[in-house]
Amino acid sequence: MSKIDFAAELEAAVVAVRDAATVCQSVQKNLVNAATLEKKDRSPVTVADFASQALVCSSLALSSRIDAIVGEENAAELREAGAEETRDKVVEHVRNVRGAEVSPDQALDWIDLGGVNPDDSTERYWTLDPIDGTKGFLRGEQYAIALGLIEHGRVVLGILGCPNLPGPDGQPGCLLSAVRGQGAEIRPLAGSGRDAARAIRVSDIESTVAARFCESVESGHSDQGQSAQIAAALGITDAPVRVDSQAKYAIVAQGQAQIYLRLPTSKEYREKIWDHAAGMIVVEEAGGSVTDVRGHPLDFGHGRMLDNNSGIIATNGPIHDAVLEAVSRFVDVR
Ligand code: AMP
Ligand code: MG
Repeated sequence: MSKIDFAAELEAAVVAVRDAATVCQSVQKNLVNAATLEKKDRSPVTVADFASQALVCSSLALSSRIDAIVGEENAAELREAGAEETRDKVVEHVRNVRGAEVSPDQALDWIDLGGVNPDDSTERYWTLDPIDGTKGFLRGEQYAIALGLIEHGRVVLGILGCPNLPGPDGQPGCLLSAVRGQGAEIRPLAGSGRDAARAIRVSDIESTVAARFCESVESGHSDQGQSAQIAAALGITDAPVRVDSQAKYAIVAQGQAQIYLRLPTSKEYREKIWDHAAGMIVVEEAGGSVTDVRGHPLDFGHGRMLDNNSGIIATNGPIHDAVLEAVSRFVDVR
């Protein structure tokens, strides 16, 4: 297997995620706030999701040596009759970044670059969530553009673009990144790609009593009743920090919380690789620990889903075993 220059791949991925963030930010800013929410109209997020994937895939096609991309979306529904209105809006957003000469077919083909189904022969691939936390996106709150690189079933690089989390300069918008063995960094989301990044580190507390924990806003994505019991057992008195998307990993990686609990709401649900690849490596490279509810490492060697894992526990590290012990008392981890 040939060697890959991770520094070059990192910079390619940063540019790709920044391009996608531009579109997501402009769509979120123009959401018809309350009216959109009341009608449960998901069309704005659908358009931004597709445009974001088209931009990340087209950028990687130009500047990354790795051509396999496992994205959450594909263009099949946009190719169907009746989807013209959505398709035209997606194309318009892609043209705003890539230029007026982009044809509709080109835009759809870019989205479909993310249609790879990884198997044992796919030695390296990107995995992309073009908008992670779509519910937060629609509420005008947190969401992330998440891009991870998997090599032989291991995450080796990850980028989290978080347009609504503060950056190192205090301005809204940050980009977190990590390369295996090289630590984790934060930089402003806005920028040209080569500006200074600064190292980030998890909190160093060793007692759970002083810990803050975060979890999903959506009770359907994580059992909030069980997390309250676990927090009480750990002596945690602060209310949970409820945040959408992989911004939760970003918060733990920066030491603003020490625990992220994602407790299964059903036995059948399997986590998707693009929901965790980037966030996991950012926390690990910031010095933290990430496992499933049984304490098993996340296993990225099974295609699009974490087939061998259930739930997610991320911590600053020193308190991981204590958290797992408490989890085992309240969650059926068999
Ligand atoms: P969050 O913003 O942390 O609530 O997570 C958003 C992600 O939850 C989405 O990208 C979905 O892929 C994922 N998701 C959907 N259904 C479930 C479920 N039942 N349990 C856990 N995660 C889910
Ligand atoms: Mg997601």
